[in-house]
Amino acid sequence: MVFVPGVTTSQVRGKLFAFEGQALCVGKDPVAVPVAEIDPMLDLFLGELDGVACFATRERRPEGTEPMPLRQLYGALPEEEFGVAGRALGLTAWDADHRHCGRCGAPTERSAVERLRACTSCGHGAYPRLSPAVIVLVERDGRCLLARNARTKMPFYSTLAGFVEVGETLEQCVAREIQEEAGIEVGDVRYFGSQPWPFTGSLMIGFTAHWAAGELVPEPTELLDAQWFAPDALPIVPPRLSIARELIDDFVRRRG
Ligand SMILES: [Zn+2]
Repeated sequence: MVFVPGVTTSQVRGKLFAFEGQALCVGKDPVAVPVAEIDPMLDLFLGELDGVACFATRERRPEGTEPMPLRQLYGALPEEEFGVAGRALGLTAWDADHRHCGRCGAPTERSAVERLRACTSCGHGAYPRLSPAVIVLVERDGRCLLARNARTKMPFYSTLAGFVEVGETLEQCVAREIQEEAGIEVGDVRYFGSQPWPFTGSLMIGFTAHWAAGELVPEPTELLDAQWFAPDALPIVPPRLSIARELIDDFVRRRG
């Protein structure tokens, strides 16, 4: 499947993916909306998936459809469609949160040519914002650093992650996050890949790194536990489709 993102379309037929901050479903399928249901004033064009136009709306819910939290669709929808649903939720949230200008308070309106809500009085524009976050697999002597998150209390061990601060490079963020959460210094920081993470409005940017100095001291407000794991003795790890799991699978392929 190929998804081509877009701002405008001449198509009036397609799939509708979101409603009031949740994914829109019939059963587990994002609903296909008939021609008359697409309203270019209300619905946001997301792009085309295999030539089918995809839209999101906040204003109305077609009969027979149910809103569903995006998390319930994780792993249930094909990866590409899940990506479109995540895009739908992010853009409907942006559209709802910027109806008035953050600078002067006047109403805004959508631009017809770019992904922007512009103020009708002062012209100030609001683009959709992403929160970049790094996610890092650290290696030491053939073992990898995995930890249980103290806030989410998920049952699995995962790679360390954290949001990028204003004015920080990705490499500085990797070094700071690992130092803050695990008490160690890292080097040989290398880009691995990236993944949109719609649950937190993030773009996860994956890296591998190597231990350089210091002993592991988990920061208790961030981590319930952190350990070095050999590739043949891993704990429960995150589900497939997550970049954390891709980093761990890559480590096992290289070292297992
Ligand atoms: Zn304004």
